[in-house]
Amino acid sequence: MTAIEKPSCYNLLCMSKELICLTDLTSDDLVALIAELGQPSYRAKQLQHWIYKELAASYGQMGNMPKTLREKLARKARISRIKPVHESMAKDGTVKTLFSLLDGRTIEASMMQHPAGKGKWRHTVCVSTQAGCALGCSFCATGQQGFERNLWPGEIIDQVIYFTRRMRHGVGVEVDAVPNVVFMGMGEPLANYDALMQVIDILNSPDGLNIGARSMTVSTAGLVPQIERFSQEKRQVRLAISLHAAADALRNKLVPLNKRYPLEALMKSCRAHIETTGRRITFEYILFENINDSVQQAVELAALLKGMNCHVNLIAANSTDNKNFKPPVHNIVLAFQHELERRHIPCTLRVSKGADINAGCGQLRSRFLGTERG
Ligand code: SAH
Ligand code: SF4
Repeated sequence: MTAIEKPSCYNLLCMSKELICLTDLTSDDLVALIAELGQPSYRAKQLQHWIYKELAASYGQMGNMPKTLREKLARKARISRIKPVHESMAKDGTVKTLFSLLDGRTIEASMMQHPAGKGKWRHTVCVSTQAGCALGCSFCATGQQGFERNLWPGEIIDQVIYFTRRMRHGVGVEVDAVPNVVFMGMGEPLANYDALMQVIDILNSPDGLNIGARSMTVSTAGLVPQIERFSQEKRQVRLAISLHAAADALRNKLVPLNKRYPLEALMKSCRAHIETTGRRITFEYILFENINDSVQQAVELAALLKGMNCHVNLIAANSTDNKNFKPPVHNIVLAFQHELERRHIPCTLRVSKGADINAGCGQLRSRFLGTERG
């Protein structure tokens, strides 16, 4: 039996009525596009250089490409699929941007900055992978809004390019060349698996943005089959699991996906991931007042994670419009952390970055620092 090859993103887009977008294309797709326009293949390399090294925002900037080629390209492909429509900046420098997509839907992404010593800054870009989310977590603003659609690879990459461009043009501070990337915005990254892997490979490629695999973190609510596939593919990208509860009855309520993949199956896939990749996993645990914040629940969490090569990232919930999910008072958070530490579970308490602009959003919190270790 011959395997039927899956149509590439490029082929799918060529079949659709939409203009394709350069960032939807792999290196091979760019070569195919250039060949289709009757040009030598080194032009594909030049084009790639303009997209990922110069971060060109228009064909006009691509000075070493013939004007006729640029005109042909402009008729065939867009440079970006997303348009910033609203932006807010928090006191700590976190920028959150709302982008509109070509079909009028909107997504959010944010960029956080943290000092890296000697007057330098590290930046972390938090991107969305879907418009909406089908998993319906009860505390999550996106989950409560339902699922709209998967993002195209270009729509995800464009969020990173947008902030990298901003970062490079930042004045007065010395910045790194490329940001860390966390797939922790709207949507469940592993539910848009093929697009996500294409994005990771392009961001990681020396011909792309050249972002180290270890500088990227995929966060999942626990899609076990995709976690298993991800482990087998052995990318060096970090994995974070949004756990939030250490007992099935409670996790079923907070993360309904748990009914499909209960803790036993999830933890088994996590252990296998650590074994296969040799990499530490981060467990994210958002603390909600009177829901999952008792010392007894910290004891349960420690028992669940005992002996695993992992790290817990504790986050006090951000206040959303949903009054059922409030952050605990600080002492309760500290008591929870203390109990984990007492039981030798490595953990970090993260304060929200950009708290003053995230209010009511329920998303895009800064849980990235804890995932950077290990
Ligand atoms: N769907 C993936 C990817 C990130 S979802 C996942 O669940 O891991 C967006 C992130 O925002 C999740 O980590 C989620 O736990 C967090 N989040 C959603 N609502 C929140 C809230 N009210 N307070 C704090 N974090 C929240
Ligand atoms: Fe989806 Fe993540 Fe929100 Fe759950 S927390 S609804 S998985 S975006």
